[in-house]
Amino acid sequence: MRYIEPHAHMVSRTTDDYISMVASGCAAVCEPAFWAGFDRGSADGFHDYFLQLTEYEPKRSAKFGLPHFCWLCINPKESEDVGLAKEVLALIPEFIDRPNVLGIGEIGLNKNSRNELEVLEMHIDLAARHEQLILVHTPHLEDKLKGTRLTLDALRNNPAIKPERVIIDHVEEHTVGMVLDAGFWAGMTLYPGSKCSPARAIDIVETYGGERLWMNSACDWGVSIPLSIPYTAMEMRRRGHNADAVDTLIYRNPHEFLSQCPKFML
Ligand SMILES: [Zn+2]
Repeated sequence: MRYIEPHAHMVSRTTDDYISMVASGCAAVCEPAFWAGFDRGSADGFHDYFLQLTEYEPKRSAKFGLPHFCWLCINPKESEDVGLAKEVLALIPEFIDRPNVLGIGEIGLNKNSRNELEVLEMHIDLAARHEQLILVHTPHLEDKLKGTRLTLDALRNNPAIKPERVIIDHVEEHTVGMVLDAGFWAGMTLYPGSKCSPARAIDIVETYGGERLWMNSACDWGVSIPLSIPYTAMEMRRRGHNADAVDTLIYRNPHEFLSQCPKFML
């Protein structure tokens, strides 16, 4: 089995996780910028984080032959402070041409607040001006449907954004249809306790087909499972899907989307 992990927060995982992923067939890992488990106090904290994502983490991953890519932004959980967000966005252009940077993400909404929406629009504009791919986080549980609608509207309001260059992540049964219908890619997050279980993810694949869909573990500093993609692939095989269908979902689809950034070469 081979797979791409398109969404993992490896800075908060152990080196042992890298070994397990590679041993399970992981061919590349992509790390969106995220919350650290605490609010960073200044833009300097983000500057150091962007160095970690673009310099230290690819080196740690390379020790096991695993290509490491990343996405840059100030994440939705820290977007309430618009002044701080502006300072962080001003840092991004100096990092954007680094060899492992795929685009702007994971941007989006957390509580669907007015300030978060303003910062989301600033990120969309930054991505458009620098012709970057976009990876979008959608809110949790009861805020997800409204947050997904607001996010799709914000993306459509920017005429420079092409939907096929945007992935809307953490979709569930009630949001995947609107994302795919609008021409965007959709990511299913396999997360214990919230988001998708393996069985629900495969139900979604069986309902909507396997096009413009990917799966990720979104493993981070919380309770999460770095190997949830290969585990879900096993569930897919158990249900009778053939090896080719599994390979499309967990390798070829993320490869197709990510290859729109010329730096994504395996
Ligand atoms: Zn994430």
